[in-house]
Amino acid sequence: MSLRVQKLMDLMNDLAPPHLALKNDSIGLQIGHPEEEINNILTTLDVDEQALAAAEKYDANLVVSHHPLIFTPLTAIDYRRPDGNIIKEIIRRRINVFVAHTNLDIAPTGVNNILCNILEVEKAGVLEITRQEKLLKLVVFVPAGYEENLRDGIASAGAGWIGSYSHCTFQSAGTGTFLPLENTEPFIGERGKLEKVDEFRLETVLPASRQKEVKEALLQNHPYEEPAYEFYKLEEAGFPLGLGCWGTLTEPLPLKELARKCRQVLGSDTIRYWGDNDAQAHKIALCGGSGGNLISRALQREADVFISGDFKYHDIQYARSMGLNLIDAGHYGTEYPLVPWLAQYLQDKLRAWGAQNSVRPVSGGGLDENILPEG
Ligand SMILES: [Zn+2]
Repeated sequence: MSLRVQKLMDLMNDLAPPHLALKNDSIGLQIGHPEEEINNILTTLDVDEQALAAAEKYDANLVVSHHPLIFTPLTAIDYRRPDGNIIKEIIRRRINVFVAHTNLDIAPTGVNNILCNILEVEKAGVLEITRQEKLLKLVVFVPAGYEENLRDGIASAGAGWIGSYSHCTFQSAGTGTFLPLENTEPFIGERGKLEKVDEFRLETVLPASRQKEVKEALLQNHPYEEPAYEFYKLEEAGFPLGLGCWGTLTEPLPLKELARKCRQVLGSDTIRYWGDNDAQAHKIALCGGSGGNLISRALQREADVFISGDFKYHDIQYARSMGLNLIDAGHYGTEYPLVPWLAQYLQDKLRAWGAQNSVRPVSGGGLDENILPEG
């Protein structure tokens, strides 16, 4: 079976829907064509020389990157400049580039969720809400014996997700009636005769943004020619999504130990931290990448520590004056865990779909900073 770019775009858009991205972000297919056939795939934080070398080595012609290759308005592709040369090489070698940036930061299973899992933080909420998904209620009537199939279908399209639970539905039994008229091909019964059928009423919730996909899945997985179903608007605010997150460490640690843990599990050489070594860290705020502008959100959550990257002098000054401890595990350090995770995620999805193409993480990037040894 030949694998095309479109399949990967679909998988990525399910994981990190494009509408979650912040305004002015550059995401999606940045170079390439959905119909291009894919050999192998790379995941990376940046599309740089290292990613190009890995593409060559592993015969990869799709690069899925977290940071956009093209971000600021492109005014020139000058081959004498490194950025222009990279674009030239990508096009020359017919490599496709797909980007999931702030949509992957904000997606509930994205960057910050991965950080929480690695650091053993039980996630409780987001730091800054950027989107509160409106919810819909779906009620559908299905003949007995077909309810499991239908439930699976609509669940994989995005219905029935509440927090960390999927397939949440309520099912009640009843009797459906119908009279097939002329020009019908009834699945059960015959034309002109009133039918009474054992049916289930299946009800569930879904984000309004998934209505189209859920409706398609419903029609695909329902045995009837004309299924009976309704979508209702709900008053309740939906699931909040946004930047950064907060939660509690499964086991509270002194600040110094937590900094050490960050170094171990994030594989980052340079961890800087501010606060009393022995201060107990239990409630944690987190943000992969640059989190300086979320310090006030971490304070609102009364976090003991805020773990992120790229803290600036005045950010640190402000946080310390307010009694908030900080751990700077680096922009790269706090985002890199995404790369192997995403490779595995896509690999599993492709295998389940029947494709044998490989997905590999581009490892060991970052800025190769020098750390002056003591003495
Ligand atoms: Zn970043």
